[in-house]
Amino acid sequence: MKIICIGRNYVEHIQELSNEVPASPVFFMKPDTALVRQGIFFLPKFSNEIHHEIELVLKINQPGKNIAEEFAHRYFDEITVGIDFTARDIQQYQKEKGLPWEPAKAFDGSAPVGDFVKLSSLKDPENIRFRLDKNGKSVQEGSSKLMIHSFAKIISYVSMFCTLKKGDLIFTGTPKGVASVAAEDVLTGFLEDRQLLRILVR
Ligand code: MG
Repeated sequence: MKIICIGRNYVEHIQELSNEVPASPVFFMKPDTALVRQGIFFLPKFSNEIHHEIELVLKINQPGKNIAEEFAHRYFDEITVGIDFTARDIQQYQKEKGLPWEPAKAFDGSAPVGDFVKLSSLKDPENIRFRLDKNGKSVQEGSSKLMIHSFAKIISYVSMFCTLKKGDLIFTGTPKGVASVAAEDVLTGFLEDRQLLRILVR
């Protein structure tokens, strides 16, 4: 199982980090050791600035390579929210040096993922609203309709490079509002109005 993450997929988040809007999807990966389902996220000792990034997460349901955009919808039927935890201080250093992002993105526990729901159960699959609450207060809100690159585009693009396999997860990018987390924070992720993820930071 692999975890593929899309970066820079919401205009206002690109602006808050002073990045450029990419012509093609930006993607990177996290290993399976990044995956957490529910429970506790332990702040790593190597960073002083761990940011939350709430994202819609797709689960791939069959293998595919070079998937055409028009057929991409056949490759996933479940969705949830996840957090792409990011060591922003390390990422900033890596970006400045032109180095890979893995130390900032791929560490243990950096990919909590909520309970999956069927896409067919959503009220409006063209406008999938999601949000992250921190200690009961909304801190990030987004909708799939604000994505620069659609689910279909992402699946088509990534599958040119990497064969997708059943069970692979795709994080589809974060909306604006990323910020630091601290010990004892409680993070809850919502899809529409359903709470699908709860993480305690330690
Ligand atoms: Mg992200």
